[in-house]
Amino acid sequence: MRAVRLVQVGKPLAESDIPIPEIGSSDVLIRVAAAGICHSDAHYRSGISKIDRLPLTLGHEVAGRVEEVGSDVTHLSVGDRVCVHYLVHCGSCEFCVRGLEQFCRSGQMIGKHRDGGYAEFIKVPGANAFQLPDETPFEVGAIIMCSSATALHALYKARFKAGESIAIFGFGGLGFSALQLARAFDCGDVYVVEINPAKLASAASMGAIAIDARSADPVEQIKEATSGRGVDVALELIGSAKTMRQAVLCLAAFGRAALVGLTAESMSIHPYTEVINKEVEIIGVSDHLATELPTLIEFVRSGRLRFPSGMLHSVDLDAGQINRVLDGLETSTERIRTVILPRE
Ligand SMILES: [Zn+2]
Ligand SMILES: [Zn+2]
Repeated sequence: MRAVRLVQVGKPLAESDIPIPEIGSSDVLIRVAAAGICHSDAHYRSGISKIDRLPLTLGHEVAGRVEEVGSDVTHLSVGDRVCVHYLVHCGSCEFCVRGLEQFCRSGQMIGKHRDGGYAEFIKVPGANAFQLPDETPFEVGAIIMCSSATALHALYKARFKAGESIAIFGFGGLGFSALQLARAFDCGDVYVVEINPAKLASAASMGAIAIDARSADPVEQIKEATSGRGVDVALELIGSAKTMRQAVLCLAAFGRAALVGLTAESMSIHPYTEVINKEVEIIGVSDHLATELPTLIEFVRSGRLRFPSGMLHSVDLDAGQINRVLDGLETSTERIRTVILPRE
């Protein structure tokens, strides 16, 4: 089969002809119909994120049709439309038995620790393949399995409830999903903090209260808009110590700040006045869980989470085209998502 693989870190991905993977009794073989090209794939290619096994087929946002089913897999049949949960886990360690597989002792990420979806076929454990409703296009089924799934996990980690207000710091791919998911939970007011005028306008057009962080301190703006109260939940999706601190400071009493963005910077917090005195919580968010995915898939099926067609671009399973998309991701913060659509 054809596959587009990382052969050497720092070099363009290369096209290879490799055998179709052989499945075990608990696996399924999927004919890839769509594979999202993610910002983290650019980090694997450049070496910012380490890959220990090369060559490797990238691609952790995958949807397709079941081609072959292992004898122990009972919930899927040949021909089923599926999307793929990218964390392969053992199912039996102390974390897996509690349904917290993102910390599985022997967890592997598809497209990082094992071959991913930039190929005609992919082998995954049956437990990682989720039925994709007929109404949902494959390309949407692929891209929701990364940033949208993490946005949903962040809301769950923050114990976000109907009627609560929320501040979303950063309106890229995660924020775009987070706003729609918050509304699917019947949220109260949503504040979107951004410095990009186009993203502020887009957030406002989706019903959020746009907070322009260039014009004044976003914490002051949120406090003013809430008569000094603050918000119940804040999501930090940017990955900067400054916005993480703002996410904590804009909370109401008992508020929860969920930190999703990655940074190596340190954040300073005054424990008494900024945390203890208000009983606020600072919560780390990492990846997402298999148990959350059916809700996500249903939100997409029912149209509560949507991606306008102009937001989705497609390329062939072609190394040159894919490398150009990765080049673009290294320089742009656009929300346009590109999906590989392999032709049979
Ligand atoms: Zn991704
Ligand atoms: Zn495990």
